[in-house]
Amino acid sequence: MGTPIIISVKRRAMDCEFELVLRGTDRQYLLDAGEEAFEELARLEEQMSVFIPTSEISDINANASNRPVRVDARLFDLLLMAKRVSAETSGAFDISVGPLARRWTAGDEDFSVPTSEEIRQLTSKVGMRHVRLDERDYTVEFDRPGVMLDLGAIGKGYAVRQMASLLRDRGIDAGLVSGGASTVYAIGHPPDDDAWTVGIRNPVEREKRLTTVKLGDQALSTSGGHERFAELDGIRYSHVIDPRTGRPADNLLIAGAVTPDPAESDALSTAFLALGVEETRRFCSTHANVGAVLVPRPAPGAELEIIRIGT
Ligand code: ADP
Ligand code: MG
Repeated sequence: MGTPIIISVKRRAMDCEFELVLRGTDRQYLLDAGEEAFEELARLEEQMSVFIPTSEISDINANASNRPVRVDARLFDLLLMAKRVSAETSGAFDISVGPLARRWTAGDEDFSVPTSEEIRQLTSKVGMRHVRLDERDYTVEFDRPGVMLDLGAIGKGYAVRQMASLLRDRGIDAGLVSGGASTVYAIGHPPDDDAWTVGIRNPVEREKRLTTVKLGDQALSTSGGHERFAELDGIRYSHVIDPRTGRPADNLLIAGAVTPDPAESDALSTAFLALGVEETRRFCSTHANVGAVLVPRPAPGAELEIIRIGT
């Protein structure tokens, strides 16, 4: 048995920086396991990115309005899960929100607020009811033209899940796997505590920490309208859309979700941003292993309020 060591390695993917913090005794072994995890990450990005024309998601988006498109079994499982989370959150989480999301974040100089009529038309292409997932042959089919899938709110968490599971298979029993500021998953616990302590960044004073959460074999994901947005006349339009209204979710500054599954926490943090405080409370009261950290948008000049539910 060597002396315990901790290594940290980073890799850019999915438009953010992934980091692995791994505890063990053999430095080279940890580095090799980390490299394998990053190779898995690269494979997942090639499969799931809407920005890569050869990805399976791009294949679905190009063809599923014309015919059933067969997809990899693990990707199919992820789509099934996304559909379930959509149903459980009354449609607040919806991977088919693309037509609306693109319109609201086409945030260059030309950005204009869409009219109600435009929103109504875009909304007719949004909703998991337009997406048929056939479990017999792993195919995806859309019931009309213009439907598209975008895993932007679940893909990083899914990658974190797959990387953590690979690292566990390599015998790593303590560490952190994170995908940017979006999702962090804690494997086991650090040497001197029964859980890892991770921070949530203050959305207003970005260098400061807002609060911390303790994680043991659990993930924390955070979503915030402040991460990416379009701006017009001093108003910021969040990149998270409430598919139920067709408009940006703007009641909360940040929503955090804690669950054992990083893909689920990623999806739920996005859902909570749209659901707001009361609906998130209701969701958590019926989902025993889900916790939330919510920060409502403060009145001008008021202090930030942090609402913790089961965390
Ligand atoms: P981050 O990328 O910062 O982790 P999220 O996990 O909240 O943020 O994902 C936001 C992305 O998900 C958006 O950029 C958009 O592509 C997509 N999206 C926006 N609104 C929704 C929604 N209601 N449900 C699912 N995906 C959404
Ligand atoms: Mg998310």
